[in-house]
Amino acid sequence: MSVKNLSDEVLRKYEEILKKEQKRTQELINGMSRDHLEACEKNGDSNHYSIHQADQGSDTYSREKDVYLLECENKKLKSINKALGRIYEKTYGICGICGDYIEEPRLKVLPYACYCIKCKSKEERKSNKK
Ligand SMILES: [Zn+2]
Repeated sequence: MSVKNLSDEVLRKYEEILKKEQKRTQELINGMSRDHLEACEKNGDSNHYSIHQADQGSDTYSREKDVYLLECENKKLKSINKALGRIYEKTYGICGICGDYIEEPRLKVLPYACYCIKCKSKEERKSNKK
C-alpha cells in the first residue's frame, strides 16, 4: 500500500473530534462576541463600532486582549473547517508541505494540524527570524 491516507475508521474518529471542537469553538466565539458587545454597552458606549474605542484608557488593554483571543479562536475555527474538508477529500493526516503522514500523537493533541512536526518547526523557525 503506497497510497497515503488514513483508514475510514480513523478518519471517522477524527471527524467526530473535529466536529466537537468546531462546535465548542463556535460557541466560544459567539460567547466572546456577546461579552464584548455587552462590555461596550455597560460603558455607555452606544456606538459599538466607534473608532474612538481605543481612546478609552484602561479598557483598551482588556479589549485588545479580547480581540486577540477572538482572532485566535477564529483562526482555529478556520483550521478546523479546513481539516474537516481534508477528511472529506481523504487527504486528512497528511502534511501539506512534505506530503508525509502527520504523526498520530500530534493529531491527538492538535486534530486540525495541517503540517507534520518537522515542517511546522521549520516554519516556526522561519517566522521567528522576522
Ligand atoms: Zn511535513
